Amino acid sequence: MWARKRIDIGWLDLHFALSRAGMRLSKYLLTNKCVTPYIESEWSADSDAFVCLSVRTGFDILLAKLKLPAGSEVLMSAVTIQDMARIIEHHGLVPVPIDLDPATMAPTPEALEAAITPQTKAILIAHLFGGIIDLSPYANIAKKHDLILIEDCAQAFDGDEYRGHPESNVVMFSFGPIKTATALGGAILTIRNAELLSQMKDQHSKYLFQNQWSFFKRVCTYTVLKFIGGYYAFGLLVKLCRLMGKDYETLLNGAVRNFPADEFFQSIRQQPTSALCLLLKRRINKFNAIRQDRRIESGRLLTELLTPHFHCPGTELIRHTFWVFPVEVQDKTEIVSRLRKAGFDAASASQLAPISPPESRPEMFPRQVSKCLDRVIYLPFYPEMPDSELKRMARVMLDIKS
Ligand SMILES: *Cc1c(COP(=O)(O)O)cnc(C)c1O
Repeated sequence: MWARKRIDIGWLDLHFALSRAGMRLSKYLLTNKCVTPYIESEWSADSDAFVCLSVRTGFDILLAKLKLPAGSEVLMSAVTIQDMARIIEHHGLVPVPIDLDPATMAPTPEALEAAITPQTKAILIAHLFGGIIDLSPYANIAKKHDLILIEDCAQAFDGDEYRGHPESNVVMFSFGPIKTATALGGAILTIRNAELLSQMKDQHSKYLFQNQWSFFKRVCTYTVLKFIGGYYAFGLLVKLCRLMGKDYETLLNGAVRNFPADEFFQSIRQQPTSALCLLLKRRINKFNAIRQDRRIESGRLLTELLTPHFHCPGTELIRHTFWVFPVEVQDKTEIVSRLRKAGFDAASASQLAPISPPESRPEMFPRQVSKCLDRVIYLPFYPEMPDSELKRMARVMLDIKS
């Protein structure tokens, strides 16, 4: 059975991570002092990069150091992981969702500009599903209204093809467990204001280091998950769970939680351990562009097979790396169950959800994109799936339609 998701990391990378995570502690601080600046200087020639434990870690420090007046509004793409809104609120700011156009999964520049009030201080735009949108119109709006433009590229890593729009004030890339070219954690931010960057790094240097042993355990967990994600192993897991009356969705979702829900801020406020930094450096340097190209080609093929019978959100993007493959369907339960019977473990939900508007601005409820996400399922999709299987999956879907 084709599992819904495979973590994007090779066996050799995992082996590398395990051996580095097993390294003696004395070497560990020393290594980190050399690795982090190396990654940062390779990432950008302008001395504006910042390596940290996760996008959420960097975003939390950013908001702490921006010191925006309490009650300031942050206009944001209405769909993202809920923690981003949580961090904004934690800093006494107000997240205001801007509805997205399902064709591009981006807010229209008009909708964004219309939502600006005197309280608005920043804009947070996310590139969703692996697509990359042109940020120029948003950059113009930000400049015109003197707002900080923050670009969330967590789902959009594409090797050295894209490192953020030149006019964004902040750009954030994630290498968390489910992201492209994952290092099982880690993030790289670009901060285009030297003074702000130095304040952020200063704050970061006061954090304790992530425990090397807990990173070792994490690598072990994901090694098991990668094994389970294989075609035969996954089929076996599903059968075993059925026999034991267990729900494999609950089982897997529990295993991939990145940060615990309680102690959330404590767990993001750490410096990455040296093994993580070494793995991050390796994943960026050895980025597999051929694999990525294969994913893009497969994504185009599957889009072609499914349209115009189905709408696939985000497919009208100019550049699309197909990090995931969402499709809008009429009857989720029926289609998911038919796909599973045919050996495709489609998922009917994800961590991505619409952000609620503040009580003072109920009209900002993101209608369009909420309606779209309610109907979205995520198809199993990764470069290992041969074209013949993509075609078979499309046929299962088209059969239901006819
Ligand atoms: C994954 C993700 C994040 C968080 O990234 P971490 O590095 O795991 O903190 C933020 N925004 C979006 C859109 C994401 O997909």
